[in-house]
Amino acid sequence: MRSSTLKLIVLFATVVIGLIVTVQLYWLKKVYSFEERQFNVNVVKSIRGLFEDLEMNDAPGTSLQQLINNPGNNYFQFKADTIPQKDSLSFFLQEEFADFGVLTDCKLGAYSSSAKKYVYEEFIPTPASRYAEIKPTQDLPVFSNDFDHILLYFPHRHEYILEQMQFWVVSSVVLFISLIGLAVSLFYFYRQKFLAETQKDFVNNFTHEFRTPLAVMKIAADVLAQGNILRQPDRLERYSAIIKNQTEHLQSQVERLLKVASSESRNLPIKKENIEAQGLIEQALSKVQPLIEEKKARVELKMDDNGGYVHADRAHLELAVVNLLENALKYSLHPHIVVETGNADKDFFISVKDNGVGIEKKYLKSIFKKFYRVPTGDIHNVKGFGLGLNFVKRIIDAHNGKIRVSSLPGIGTEFRLFIPFN
Ligand code: ADP
Repeated sequence: MRSSTLKLIVLFATVVIGLIVTVQLYWLKKVYSFEERQFNVNVVKSIRGLFEDLEMNDAPGTSLQQLINNPGNNYFQFKADTIPQKDSLSFFLQEEFADFGVLTDCKLGAYSSSAKKYVYEEFIPTPASRYAEIKPTQDLPVFSNDFDHILLYFPHRHEYILEQMQFWVVSSVVLFISLIGLAVSLFYFYRQKFLAETQKDFVNNFTHEFRTPLAVMKIAADVLAQGNILRQPDRLERYSAIIKNQTEHLQSQVERLLKVASSESRNLPIKKENIEAQGLIEQALSKVQPLIEEKKARVELKMDDNGGYVHADRAHLELAVVNLLENALKYSLHPHIVVETGNADKDFFISVKDNGVGIEKKYLKSIFKKFYRVPTGDIHNVKGFGLGLNFVKRIIDAHNGKIRVSSLPGIGTEFRLFIPFN
């Protein structure tokens, strides 16, 4: 399966997971509202029963609905023409609650408008209450003070409603856990596939990189093996030089790979010192001099007289600049490279700008990944392992710095390294 197809599948699965979660949350909210309504209806039914039990309504013509109201989520208030005895009120209320299935704790208060206070308060725990020990200590609030009334306060109403929805809550939690499991598996599957692909690319690059020098060395060795070579000292010298060059090239590639592999498992050891930027850039340029000559590159330096100073690890920063210069040379047909240094707010910056092939925007976020190379179909006419920029990033990260890339395909690329002064 191609990586782009897999990406689409992962995207589709993510959207489906998101939809399932949204629908489930919507239903949970609906069920909560339903249970809440049911609870309110049961409380009102209990209060109606209480009116009959205690004959509290002196004006039977008045609709009970007008006497009961719901001044807050957890509160019910009903008018009492005569305030009943505390014991009988709590006894009958418990009976009604049991009949109508209001099985959560309740604190009641009888408010007298003449005394302007609650004349008594009582806590009625349900027999199975888990909260019976935690009686609400706060005083009951007064919502109306111009008539006698009873206030019912349900401190654990929310928890009680959630308990009623137990099946829904448990099934939703199971569903969410399964979806998270699925999402994590998809993520790992995708990552594994990405790693497998980059690894395959790496092996391909590795083979290309080593096959050509080995073939050249074999031809040179064949020439040297000819019997009459000793009589042709020029050819002998030329072919020996070819073997030496190719061996050095292979050696440097192997060393580079080993360096990446050995620095893999640990943090880069950073030994900071004050470095004169001009010297550092010149040193880096000297390392890529053969490539500059080979590509007949034009290199322009833009820095102050002494180029400024940067506080960094000399060897690592030089390597980062070498990698950027190498790329600028590799990915430009007729390279014109501008190297610039300077101060930017709290950072020192080094910029390497080229007039090369550029990088499409969609690839920019991937170029720092290990083994990543911008796809160019099956042909990679520029050699590399996809390790250079990853190493540059690791070096700059170790300095707590930043890298900014700007690139236009067909126009060129600029890499700007920022290294904090302190
Ligand atoms: P390598 O050059 O060995 O492939 P790098 O990690 O140095 O690996 O770079 C990753 C990829 O980023 C390269 O394969 C190339 O496609 C792209 N790239 C890096 N630098 C440049 C540049 N200056 N111009 C255009 N493309 C670049």
